[in-house]
Amino acid sequence: MFKRITLNASRQYADHDRDYGWRWKHARARYLAAHPLCVYCARQGFIVLATVVDHIEPHKGDPVLFWNEDNWQGLCTPCHDGAKAELERTGRLRGCDANGLPLDDAHPWGGEDR
Ligand SMILES: [Zn+2]
Repeated sequence: MFKRITLNASRQYADHDRDYGWRWKHARARYLAAHPLCVYCARQGFIVLATVVDHIEPHKGDPVLFWNEDNWQGLCTPCHDGAKAELERTGRLRGCDANGLPLDDAHPWGGEDR
């Protein structure tokens, strides 16, 4: 009996992972087709193809935050693994935009009023 429950449970997890993977693969491809440029590079005046769909606010396993497209942005791999990883680690986004203003909206010189 115990063995049977374990097998069924592992099958359910496998099905879940397969569905999740398929759904994310297609959602990611659709999003990158509609939003092909790296957001961080674009703000710096560079045209670079996005290769990663990044969650602006880390989802930490929250499915609502994970699937909310308002929380998605396209990034190139160097920006995702560099600037974004640093932002999540330190709370600060390093670098300036094409006008020399900080990329970090939380910086006193940044924000939407610039
Ligand atoms: Zn980039």
